Amino acid sequence: MKLLEGKVVLITGGSRGIGKSIAEVMADHGADVAFTYRSSADQAKEVLNGIEQKGVKGAMFQSDASDFDAAEALVKAVIEQFGKIDILINNAGITKDTLMLRMTEDQWDAVINVNLKSVFNLTKHALRAMLRARSGSIINMSSVVGVFGNAGQANYAASKAGIIGFSKSIAKEVGSRGIRCNVIAPGFIETEMTAAMEDKAREGFESAIPLKRLGATEDISNACVYLGSDLSTYVTGQVLSVCGGLNM
Ligand code: NAP
Repeated sequence: MKLLEGKVVLITGGSRGIGKSIAEVMADHGADVAFTYRSSADQAKEVLNGIEQKGVKGAMFQSDASDFDAAEALVKAVIEQFGKIDILINNAGITKDTLMLRMTEDQWDAVINVNLKSVFNLTKHALRAMLRARSGSIINMSSVVGVFGNAGQANYAASKAGIIGFSKSIAKEVGSRGIRCNVIAPGFIETEMTAAMEDKAREGFESAIPLKRLGATEDISNACVYLGSDLSTYVTGQVLSVCGGLNM
């Protein structure tokens, strides 16, 4: 059953990892998919080819999510090409991990700008079109680290916790206009980052997870399909943890 036919989704950071999988799975469900990347043009082109082979419309945009004006231009371009934005997924994110005493101002600013300010940028510009349509679903990618904190990740955890407060506020502001805003908090997901982990470290993570495995990128994409589709029309302001039970 295709759950997203007739819908247009805009995903930030769709060239790799979780964002790539979201783009592919949403296309499988019949959505037209616009996505961004920052520097991986070749990988983005591959994702775009894959989307188009599924028989839906696709488009890729090089756009820095942390840049307010670029976000405005991006939203304008997507609406020109696709006519609307039904689902916005703020997925782009980076880490610059280090202990607090070593953390530089640049490391703090970079993570807050790419992970949190980007969510403001894209939401601010996409919201106008959603308000006119009196419908829309915004999905913001946080992390279990935003809920629990993590040593060596104060900048990242702060950005991901900020996303939760932001999303709950937006849900309250625009719920009456038919627009929903939810958060996904992934646990440890198999991506390039976790593939580089040593076996011993991986075993340590896995044994701490009640479901005894790292998540697949599709586990996150499936949650996006649910929150983007009409299956979740009475769900807003929520944090959906997709973490194998790590947060219990
Ligand atoms: P990833 O593999 O490193 O991919 C990050 C994506 O974001 C890439 O497409 C990258 O584009 C894009 N990006 C980075 N900076 C950008 C910017 N300034 N503007 C636009 N796009 C930008 O990351 P991931 O593991 O898939 O993570 C995706 C999201 O899930 C992030 O928000 C992350 O914090 C969150 N998350 C991940 C995990 C995990 O275990 N992997 C766990 C919890 C939460 P380029 O390819 O062009 O660089």
